[in-house]
Amino acid sequence: MIPPWSAPDVTITGVRTIVTAPEGVNLVVVRLDTSTPGLYGLGCATFHQRFAAVVATLCTHLAPLVIGQRVADISEISRMLHFSGYWRDGPVLNSALSGVDMALWDIAGKRAGMPVYELLGGRLRGDVPVYLHASGETIAETIEHAAALIDAGFSHVRLQTGQPGLGAYGAPGRPGGYPDAPYPDGWSVRHYLAQTPRLFAAARDRLGDDVELLHDVHSRLTPKQAVTLARSLEPYRLYFLEDPVAPEHYDRLPSVRAASPVPIACGELAVSVASAARLVTSGGVDLLRCHVSAIGGLTPARKLADLCELSGVQTAWHAPADVSPVGAAANLALDLASPAFGIQEGHVYPDIVHEIFPGTPVVAAGYARPSAAPGWGVDLDERLAAEHPPVLGGHERWAATVRRPDGAIEAP
Ligand code: MG
Repeated sequence: MIPPWSAPDVTITGVRTIVTAPEGVNLVVVRLDTSTPGLYGLGCATFHQRFAAVVATLCTHLAPLVIGQRVADISEISRMLHFSGYWRDGPVLNSALSGVDMALWDIAGKRAGMPVYELLGGRLRGDVPVYLHASGETIAETIEHAAALIDAGFSHVRLQTGQPGLGAYGAPGRPGGYPDAPYPDGWSVRHYLAQTPRLFAAARDRLGDDVELLHDVHSRLTPKQAVTLARSLEPYRLYFLEDPVAPEHYDRLPSVRAASPVPIACGELAVSVASAARLVTSGGVDLLRCHVSAIGGLTPARKLADLCELSGVQTAWHAPADVSPVGAAANLALDLASPAFGIQEGHVYPDIVHEIFPGTPVVAAGYARPSAAPGWGVDLDERLAAEHPPVLGGHERWAATVRRPDGAIEAP
């Protein structure tokens, strides 16, 4: 139903989803076609682990509501889809909504002949500073990886080191690490809390002070353990400590942050814009780092960026391999246009992704360079994408191995 005040000039005529996995990660992209020949938009709806549910939501439930709508009514369509299912939010619904929302922003930019960041107020910076991940099976390997990234021009590096067992996050684990335990491939919080300060002590010793160091806990600690870790890392001046506690314990985050001598970054597991906003308003974060598609797209994310600006919080949007190049371009648009920008997580896409998605942002020498083309500046070769069909079970199979040495399941 088009609002009565809205003249049906350019309307949405088609909704399609494309799932492609050139890196073994299921990238979900929405394409909206319009009544103007040749005018279409692309949006990121990536939820790697539940891609089929997102596709079903889009094709069965959202497409009938979207077709016939006026492409200029981005906020109207975003709110209509948000409320249309009565029960709202969650990663499946919000990823689907994000695909439509971002595609509409892409169309808006193409109609205006402007990149989306100019629609958001224009550039506040040239290129976007990014951090990359350094990892290794040992502390020495991790630090050598970090040194190579620093030599390549990166000033911000995330450090993760492997541990006994298969559940090390962000780095290779060592199978059979606890041979006498009920689950020899387990992940030990005791070992983790002891090893992590040693990693950062060695990193400062080898890498010096002129580099920003980051670390991702990946939600595996209790609030008190998180404070213990944060205090143990104080001498090494982290840029941020990421996801110290699980989303089930976000109400404890303000007390963790108050007791932490290092900045706290959190938000990638937030699955509503309201819960992400509460991380800011409750004083739980120094940097907010949502997975933009999981909160519904650019329209809600720009509200969060404004909230961060007014609250003295910075942004660090989530963007490893499970964000499509379209989603990466949306992150960069926010980064370029927001005074709250802190740092951007970067991912160096392989050549095949650049071939499937012409215009994919280039990450090199410490910066991500956005496309200056209208809209997101990112296109999609659907024929090539089809040569890399979706994959099932990779992340789930790894997650099932993340257990304590006694065999109890741990958050992945
Ligand atoms: Mg993370």
